[in-house]
Amino acid sequence: MDYLVKDISLAPSGHLKIDWADRHCPVLRKIRERFEREKPLEGLTIGMSLHLEMKSAVLALTLKAGGAEVAITGSNPLTTKDDVAAALAEREVHVYAWYGETLEEYYANINRVLDHKPQLIVDDGADMIVEVHTKRKELLGQIIGGCEETTSGVIRLKAMERDRVLGFPVIAVNDAYTKYLFDNRYGTGQSSLDGVLRATNMLIAGRTVVVCGYGWVGKGIALRARGMGAKVVVTEVDPIKALEAVMDGYSVMPMSEAAKIGEIFITATGNKNVIREEHFRVMRDGAILCNAGHFDVEIDVKALRAMAESVRRVRDCIDEYRLSDGRRLYLLGEGRLVNLVCAEGHPAEIMDISFSDQALAVEYLKKNEGKLENKVYRFPVELDVEVARLKLEAMGVEIDTLTEEQREYLESWRHGT
Ligand code: NAD
Ligand code: SAH
Repeated sequence: MDYLVKDISLAPSGHLKIDWADRHCPVLRKIRERFEREKPLEGLTIGMSLHLEMKSAVLALTLKAGGAEVAITGSNPLTTKDDVAAALAEREVHVYAWYGETLEEYYANINRVLDHKPQLIVDDGADMIVEVHTKRKELLGQIIGGCEETTSGVIRLKAMERDRVLGFPVIAVNDAYTKYLFDNRYGTGQSSLDGVLRATNMLIAGRTVVVCGYGWVGKGIALRARGMGAKVVVTEVDPIKALEAVMDGYSVMPMSEAAKIGEIFITATGNKNVIREEHFRVMRDGAILCNAGHFDVEIDVKALRAMAESVRRVRDCIDEYRLSDGRRLYLLGEGRLVNLVCAEGHPAEIMDISFSDQALAVEYLKKNEGKLENKVYRFPVELDVEVARLKLEAMGVEIDTLTEEQREYLESWRHGT
């Protein structure tokens, strides 16, 4: 097995973590057992770029169980768990990743995965797929398809489709109901608060938490912050989402106002410079800033650095920016995903659903090789429903089924005639 990891001797603790995650991924385990029997991915090489931690390892091993050769790297330079990377290398997966990669190392590792000439790509944020389309075009002819994990990656891929440059079909796994309703909302809701708590050890109750963006991620964060007793303020640019936030009972105001009262700011927009210089200027001393959106561009860290008289690391995941008027602003996780950089990302029970979607999307692409166009496709709805059914079954929750009479009623238009 070829690998480049921080330290292969870290593997024992990585194995324990992978086994722990596996224990909490019953749906993925069921899929893996079927994959082991049917080997639907036999002969394929799969290139993966995901947050390289214990739950992603369970997905990599599931695809391997399906008969694929798997090469994996991280999807963010600060979210790789070195022990998990080492353990995966010991379980016959090609691994190229370590915590704290420079940007050059990050892209070199993506290219090391691509050197395996994958026919399928599992991406999170679309960095690997974009690399193929810009610097590794020689691979385009052999790639059957790709799967994308997150909202911002799907937006990038749809822009590639619009510009007619997308060179293979992609499944927008993020857009599955069983992905965004649970992962983006409840997963990010819990894990972002987890990140803030682990980083700061601060009390949430009674604090003013500003959530920027009221999409699926923002909704989850606002819900969980309120559940812990915070006064939640939402900022938005979309009138419908803003109205939704108002009727969900939150205060909604422009960032210029929210900046003055917030004590903890969490961005979740997928957009850039949502918190910027004009906002830093009016913030309270001690304000905490962090991001749960895809990229490290939501908070204008460059501007913050330029304004600061001094910067120092005051805790593991916290940098203190001291401004010329004496105010101190605290940035968590360097403005990267707070839930993955300062904590361990979504809980395994959530990634069980998202990664079951991924495993079935990979199988679907293989089954439909040659039949799909170079477009971004929705995750097939029957697979979506199947994952929900399996999750309910694993949770021991039973539901009703339609009677024949009810089915006929729902399908007819002649009520009462
Ligand atoms: P979404 O499209 O549902 O929501 C984004 C919202 O932000 C929209 O309502 C949009 O109107 C709003 N917005 C855009 N610009 C804004 C601005 N300047 N000010 C205020 N609001 C603004 O997307 P989502 O699924 O909620 O995902 C949001 C981001 O989080 C994406 O980048 C996604 O990739 C990422 N994500 C992160 C995690 C994680 O684990 N941290 C999980 C899932 C998704
Ligand atoms: N390349 C981007 C990735 C976006 S992160 C970046 O880091 O800048 C957003 C995705 O992370 C979500 O769609 C979610 O499914 C995934 N995620 C959250 N917790 C995770 C975990 N514990 N393990 C693996 N992926 C996770």
